[in-house]
Amino acid sequence: MALSKITSVLRPLSVRAFSTSPRLLNEESRGPCFALSDEQKELQALARKFAREEILPVAAKLDQTGEYPWEIIKKAWEIGLMNHSIPEHCGGHKLSNLTSCIMAEEIAYACSGVQTAMEASGLGQTPVALFGSKEQQKKYLGRLVEQPLVAAYAVTEPVAGSDVNGIKSRAVKKGDEYILNGQKMWITNGGVANWYFVLARTSDDPKAPASKAFTGFIVERDWPGVTPGRKEINMGQRASDTRGITFEDVRIPKENVLIGEGAGFKIAMGTFDLTRAPVAAGATGLSQRAYDEALKYSMERKTFGVPIANHQAVQFMLADMAIGVELSRLAYWRAAWEIDQGRRNSYEASIAKCFAADQANKIAADAVQIFGGNGFNSDYPVEKLMRDAKIYQIYEGTSQIQRMIIARNAFERAKQMNS
Ligand SMILES: Cc1cc2nc3c(=O)[nH]c(=O)nc-3n(C[C@H](O)[C@H](O)[C@H](O)COP(=O)(O)OP(=O)(O)OC[C@H]3O[C@@H](n4cnc5c(N)ncnc54)[C@H](O)[C@@H]3O)c2cc1C
Repeated sequence: MALSKITSVLRPLSVRAFSTSPRLLNEESRGPCFALSDEQKELQALARKFAREEILPVAAKLDQTGEYPWEIIKKAWEIGLMNHSIPEHCGGHKLSNLTSCIMAEEIAYACSGVQTAMEASGLGQTPVALFGSKEQQKKYLGRLVEQPLVAAYAVTEPVAGSDVNGIKSRAVKKGDEYILNGQKMWITNGGVANWYFVLARTSDDPKAPASKAFTGFIVERDWPGVTPGRKEINMGQRASDTRGITFEDVRIPKENVLIGEGAGFKIAMGTFDLTRAPVAAGATGLSQRAYDEALKYSMERKTFGVPIANHQAVQFMLADMAIGVELSRLAYWRAAWEIDQGRRNSYEASIAKCFAADQANKIAADAVQIFGGNGFNSDYPVEKLMRDAKIYQIYEGTSQIQRMIIARNAFERAKQMNS
């Protein structure tokens, strides 16, 4: 059956504003309500059908070849599964964060490498969607709606990942331009993006606080002086494209500065409030897949005359996996819902990202265990899941950094309660 387009599901935005998040309160009980709207259920079904029919059958091959999934990205773009957060004035659908997350979970179920390739474009777009001027949004986000192109987010450098304040790329103002020099590292979509969000130091003062020292720019891939490096060969999620990028005397017009000089750190960090719940959703999709594969296998594989599902040790592993999947989903729903209500969600987003990433690693490792020797072999699906899971504990802030954010927020909350 042909895949329908997202536009056949979407209601007008004025209606959607009230229907794309689960209702907080069940009208009768005044308690939490976890029901998705009809529209969300339809979009979830659309993403699931696309993932199971277009991605899952080729996931193992993409893992082996490391080929970038352009064909899938183009099809996803055609039916509207890319560019969720682009505003309507640029031709986008501006879905709620929760709706985007639900769809991301479905894509990651089939292949989290493909999901990362798709999501990394969203990561690159978010600084522009959140902080760009109408003109910048129309030019750069509009371009992604008009053609099947992707963006990227370029902050990390060889010398600085967690410690963003340590980045060395430098942009110097000369007349109406900035001249950018520096080296980025581990940039997802680095070799395939049409444009990048780039963070660079603009302050001359080495003691300037992070909140003033950096500026966020939109840099086009085709500009002279922009050179992506070789595709990195990673442990997992090999369909995604990770590269270093060198910037050598790149001339950036001042119109491509986001907000203004000095606002870059706020932009780069503020972006994560919208993108960490989708990362957690991706990890949840991977966990669900590992659990489903392990459950099925445990009912088929026999030892000592019975299916291994009859052994309590295996049952308990499966039960723990089920707990991890369900709670990861609840955590990302909560984080996404929080920001959809217009509230800051850094605390909830870090909890969701940290928990779902740790669970994905545990659940994928347990799935390999349940498969026994077969689990260690690439003819079976779970060894890929175990390799793919690891990156969720590293990118968009490591699990240690998430715990630092959670602890900082917890202390702030405690101080507020005591004052
Ligand atoms: C496949 C892949 C894709 C990526 N995609 C992107 C992208 O699209 N854009 C982008 O900008 N970046 C991207 N990254 C970079 C990623 O965000 C960084 O790798 C990550 O933030 C960690 O930084 P680092 O590698 O420099 O590790 P480091 O910061 O050197 O950390 C090393 C270890 O020390 C721990 N650590 C560091 N500081 C502390 C502390 N204060 N307390 C406790 N522990 C600490 C870390 O948790 C980690 O375990 C990607 C990375 C990979 C591998």
